Amino acid sequence: MRLGVCARVANCARSANHECLRYDTRTITCSSKISYTRRHYHQDARNRCSAFWIPSSKIHAEKKRKDEKEDSNVLLARAGFIRQAYSGIFHLLPLGLRVQDKIESLLDKHMHSLKASKVSLSSLSSQDLWSRTGRLGEGADVFKFSDRRDAKWLLSPTHEEEITELVGSLVQSYRDLPIRLYQISRKYRDEPRPRQGLLRGREFLMKDLYTFDVDLPTALQTYDVVRATYQGFFNELKMPYIVAEADSGNMGGELSHEYHLPSLKGEDSIISCSQCDYVRNEELVGSKQVEIRPLTSADFDDRGAMKQTLPLKEAIFITRDKKSLVKAYCRSRDTTESNVVADHEINQYAIKAALPDVALGIENPSEQFVSSNPEGGSILYVFGEQIAWPDVQAKLSTEQDMNKRDDVSMCIVESASGAKGIPDLVKLQTGDKCPACSEGRVQVQKAIEIGHTFHLGTRYSEVLDAKVAVDPGSKSKHEMFMQMGCHGIGVSRLIAATASALSDNRGLNWPRVIAPFEVIVIPHQQTDVQACLGVYDQILEGEPVCQDVIVDDREIDWLSKLREADLVGYPVIIFLGKAWRERGDYEVQCRRLKVKQNVSRAELSGFVRDLLEKL
Ligand SMILES: [Zn+2]
Repeated sequence: MRLGVCARVANCARSANHECLRYDTRTITCSSKISYTRRHYHQDARNRCSAFWIPSSKIHAEKKRKDEKEDSNVLLARAGFIRQAYSGIFHLLPLGLRVQDKIESLLDKHMHSLKASKVSLSSLSSQDLWSRTGRLGEGADVFKFSDRRDAKWLLSPTHEEEITELVGSLVQSYRDLPIRLYQISRKYRDEPRPRQGLLRGREFLMKDLYTFDVDLPTALQTYDVVRATYQGFFNELKMPYIVAEADSGNMGGELSHEYHLPSLKGEDSIISCSQCDYVRNEELVGSKQVEIRPLTSADFDDRGAMKQTLPLKEAIFITRDKKSLVKAYCRSRDTTESNVVADHEINQYAIKAALPDVALGIENPSEQFVSSNPEGGSILYVFGEQIAWPDVQAKLSTEQDMNKRDDVSMCIVESASGAKGIPDLVKLQTGDKCPACSEGRVQVQKAIEIGHTFHLGTRYSEVLDAKVAVDPGSKSKHEMFMQMGCHGIGVSRLIAATASALSDNRGLNWPRVIAPFEVIVIPHQQTDVQACLGVYDQILEGEPVCQDVIVDDREIDWLSKLREADLVGYPVIIFLGKAWRERGDYEVQCRRLKVKQNVSRAELSGFVRDLLEKL
């Protein structure tokens, strides 16, 4: 092909014969005397920044120290991936959508390997259906509304109810099982405190897979296959991730695992052991049956002989109805490596496990208790099991002196066995002895949850009557409830978590499989755009080095282009700079691998391929 100069568009270095869609790259001076350059479109299929909307430069960096890492959600907005519309509600811009699309196709690939079929359920669901499974109680973070006929609806935060209804109505025989269905869809949560951008928004994109099996053994096999598939998916991202045993929360069921990316911004704490395979979320606390009894005079110390008690760690909570204040105490354990008594905190999830009515995350619980209970209430005392009874008595006596109000009753929380102990109240810290093997030491990492697998059993199928006729030859009853599993991966969360885990003080970074573009080619001057298109073609011709490349052909200076490329986080930058003008070598940059090297034209494809394989 003979390449010439486009006669119509200044600096358009394509064939003289081609037709530009618009011919207006010239600088125009309008009546208000503001000069600007319009965008123009080329007809070839190559990716060009001039034809791709990246509104990054319009949002300036907040002042920060040079070595300071910017918040990743601010980075996502500043680099032009997302834009906040309302609190907890975001628009996805072209760069963000490319990342999301790539995550979706990666998910499609792995769900296909599981033989799962893709569906798309409605975002609307009926409140009636949710009432039947008991998930629409007080405090449920669900968007609810009525239509013009006063029928009650909700915006689905998840689809267990609907999918159980759907499959239950269409499947009658064990011969139709197993069934594996998944979707990638928008979900909604009436989040009381939207925060951390995409991490805790009110609308989010999620992949949810639902599995249906005829009996428990096959359901557990399915669970293992799903776990293996999840590992395959997360391995492709080439980022460190943690798989932890988890609490099933209000999903029901008894077996569940969480998948996390370690990040200082994470809201979860993951505890792992240096010696054994103990890895679990701090939230996972074995609950014990507890009883609450009013204190009697026998429970208090003899005032005259009150002992000097060791300082106790105190944490105060309030119940959801605000009628009870909960005061919890534990004592720091002498278990750290250095044998120095660590300053342990109380694990709020242990309190929640013992007293499910406790509301977590309430500020100033004592003040709220006083203002909500002019007519009196009760104070519940919870003591960690390592506190001796005389110390408990001494503490209760000082509390009795403080609570002079007759209308406030004092109660103690005990485990059913009669001992004071309830779940271990001490929050584990890095360096503590492992609770499982007692030889290893634990590490506590902040992490962001990006996926979850649950074996649900018959939690939903029983309530919604989803059953199948079993094999006439088997000894089971005539019909059985289907065994279910549900398995999520948060797509919006994965975008935010990746941004948080990989960003540095210069900008974002992306694993190559989900990067908006894997390679960007940047010219030093506008007249070098044609040479950049040559690099573009070289990388994609024959056996392509990667899936996509983009050329920055906009009429802005090269330094701004390089800075923006760092901010956006393209895995590889090819810069046609000084080395190219002097010797025809390309400067290849990869910030994640700390590579900046000049390579010849002959070496370029192999060099870039090697870099991308590590990302
Ligand atoms: Zn261990």
